[in-house]
Amino acid sequence: MLRMIPVQRDCSRCGHVEFSAAISVIVVWAHGLRLAVPMIPKDELRLCATGNCGAAHRLVSRAFDVHPETQESVGDWKRALIVFEDGNGMEIRNRSGETLACA
Ligand SMILES: [Zn+2]
Repeated sequence: MLRMIPVQRDCSRCGHVEFSAAISVIVVWAHGLRLAVPMIPKDELRLCATGNCGAAHRLVSRAFDVHPETQESVGDWKRALIVFEDGNGMEIRNRSGETLACA
């Protein structure tokens, strides 16, 4: 069963706001990796849904940093696809400066 009830949580930047559905998988592409790497969260993972604070970008960076399969990559991640349990998806690109520019 999908949970359709909005989840309220505290974002470190936006305060008490609505969060996304739980994340099913994060697919990440990185410089130095030939194939995309799927990262499946072990715990329930949700995103600040305001879109104002770069939460998706931070989350991908954090997951990418600790994932064993990404350790052999030579560079940072360049593109990520987040798939939520409700079937929605979100694509993020990682270009330096871009996140700050749209904040
Ligand atoms: Zn936020």
